[in-house]
Amino acid sequence: MAATPKSFFDAAGAAIADTELHRKLESASARHLDHFAHVRAEFAPYEAERDAARQIKQDAISRLDELLIELTTNLEKRGCKVFFAETAEQARDYIVDLARRIEAKRIVKGKSMTTEEIELNPALTAAGMEVVETDLGEYIVQLRGEGPSHIITPAIHLSKEDIGHLFEDKLAFPYTDEPEKLTLAARDKLREIFLSADLGITGANFAIAETGTIVVVENEGNGRLSSTLPDTFVAVMGIEKVIPRMTDVSHFLEILARTATGQKLTTYTSFITGPRRDGELDGPREMHVVILDHGRSSMLADPVLREALNCIRCGACLNVCPVYRRIGGHAYQSTYPGPIGSIVSPNLFGSAAGYLPFASTLCGACRDVCPVKIDIPRILLHLRWKETEANRPLKWPGPLGRARSGARRFARMARHPRTMRFFSKLGAFMLRPFARAGWIRRMPAPFSNWTRLRDFPRPRPRRRARPARDDG
Ligand code: SF4
Repeated sequence: MAATPKSFFDAAGAAIADTELHRKLESASARHLDHFAHVRAEFAPYEAERDAARQIKQDAISRLDELLIELTTNLEKRGCKVFFAETAEQARDYIVDLARRIEAKRIVKGKSMTTEEIELNPALTAAGMEVVETDLGEYIVQLRGEGPSHIITPAIHLSKEDIGHLFEDKLAFPYTDEPEKLTLAARDKLREIFLSADLGITGANFAIAETGTIVVVENEGNGRLSSTLPDTFVAVMGIEKVIPRMTDVSHFLEILARTATGQKLTTYTSFITGPRRDGELDGPREMHVVILDHGRSSMLADPVLREALNCIRCGACLNVCPVYRRIGGHAYQSTYPGPIGSIVSPNLFGSAAGYLPFASTLCGACRDVCPVKIDIPRILLHLRWKETEANRPLKWPGPLGRARSGARRFARMARHPRTMRFFSKLGAFMLRPFARAGWIRRMPAPFSNWTRLRDFPRPRPRRRARPARDDG
């Protein structure tokens, strides 16, 4: 990951100036939140399900080692091959080697942020294979040669007109902005690809230790087709996706679809327990499960950070985040954008993403909406503290950098009351000529940036505190 505070700042600045992007983000986020409010209001046990899901996750994370052993044993009993990958590279190599061994030419993928995280597509393409994303949003961004900009709705930054032009350009489909026609065009294209694929790859929303079952939740049926049509299937999951029992799943299904897409339930929920058995008519003949660490163990070892492993990747925290809604996902320059991305990215991608915990207003909307009640602002503050402790002062570029160094100088001055009083009086005196009707509309440099967007109240002479009057 080559992102830096400067490249983030530049990308965020460009996104802030892009009013069309705001329109698309605002309308999509507002639609999500509207649907969510509706399905939440009509489902009385929502809070109880939230608590149950949080408790299950906390329990699972507290005995991850034990559950992963149980999961592995049961997956192997069902005929799956299990591979533990400590790093992204190990996971990539395992899948590329497998694809080579079965002489895969065409690979279909269901939506999977974990495979985005390990940069699987470029590795398979470099090995000479054709990789096709089959989730509609992922397919669209793949045609554009870019990554997803949201963990649930990858093409949230595009309008139906953008997609109409894209299909005209890349698929030679006559221009239309009718979503139904565009969806049918993609579906026609993808059907023939599914039928000729040698290898299918998906992520996993949950992995049930008790039964060795991989659960894939989606809306388009592409996850089910990717996991059943090709002869070989690979599920890629982070170590935190394991949950203890089959009966736990329903608690997550009750909250996941509601917060992710504002649905009561997603259209497809696949429970995959091993490859095709003798006498069965469909399903893959070979099934692999790649279980990825890639920095998650270090999150587990940190008592504050480990709470982030409860995340079920619903994307709701992105929809409510004032920063995400302003700059969109690509500006974060990380696989995982938004509030949860700002937490996991520095752990998955190293100190290069150390700037992300600072990309937050800490307003707390993410904590309120999170279905498993992750205290995101607290973790962001913890990461900021860690970044500072590591003695890696971030060099913020441009006005933000100047504001930070100004704030540092102010903090030094504020420690000395006499100096503070002197400069306050001096400042009030010098600014007086700029004031009109109690407000300063334009301050001189170096404070002019402040009044570019807002007025500044005229500094008033400080009144001495008067003793309280005794009226009694
Ligand atoms: S942190 Fe919470 S709201 Fe954000 S994606 Fe994860 S589960 Fe959803």
